[in-house]
Amino acid sequence: MEFVNPEGLRLDGRRPMEMRQLRAEIGAVARADGSAVFEMGNTKVIAAVYGPREVQNKSQLSNDQALVRCEYTMANFSTGDRKRKPKGDRRSTEISLVIRQTMEACILTNLMPRSQIDIYVQVLQADGGTRSACINAATLALADAGIPMRDLVTSCSAGYLNSTPLLDLNYLEDSAGGPDVTVGFLPKLDKVTLLQMDAKLPVDIVENVMQLAIEGCKAIATYIREVLLENTKQLEYRRGP
Ligand code: UDP
Repeated sequence: MEFVNPEGLRLDGRRPMEMRQLRAEIGAVARADGSAVFEMGNTKVIAAVYGPREVQNKSQLSNDQALVRCEYTMANFSTGDRKRKPKGDRRSTEISLVIRQTMEACILTNLMPRSQIDIYVQVLQADGGTRSACINAATLALADAGIPMRDLVTSCSAGYLNSTPLLDLNYLEDSAGGPDVTVGFLPKLDKVTLLQMDAKLPVDIVENVMQLAIEGCKAIATYIREVLLENTKQLEYRRGP
């Protein structure tokens, strides 16, 4: 199948190095301490954060750091294509773990010993790259909850189809079976905190594809900073002089 046409356009009209349209909204779940909706094209996810709060299971309590928990689920209506179990299957368990480890790397857990932070992420609409979208939503929700972080972690994927590196794969591109790389990145510290790869790639190309995903992460970080700044302005405006 042709994923990049002779004019250099992808199936959804994007250029190879072009990301899907981003949209974010802070404060979507009023009861949560922090929450956000994050969209990358037709992939739409919601994140809600509770904490720092009392540790529920005392055997997991740590005197040195906060306990971070994460649950990834897919809404039953999130995909029309093939529906697997929304939670509790191997894929959801793996993605929950990956997101938890990524968020743990940026939360200053040592500042909140003997407490627990719960991160819930749910896919509302799935069109590829849901784990990346969930990490971006979780970052916004954690910032909204006022949880101290060393940086804003962001995530983006990139793949390699028709001998072309492609940024931010949608479902059609993702399911083509080509290699794809998901990166989690700390922009201020210039550090990669997550790297997942789906298939084999030659070393020289891996470098290229990974760099492309990092550029995507940087662009998302710029957008997330704008959203947070705008949100703070709105809060100040509502509070009045
Ligand atoms: N997908 C689906 N049903 C499922 C699992 C996945 O429709 O039960 C689709 C969904 O669009 C998802 C894509 O397959 O975004 C790729 O899934 P993958 O496991 O690679 O994770 P993701 O790219 O979403 O992080």
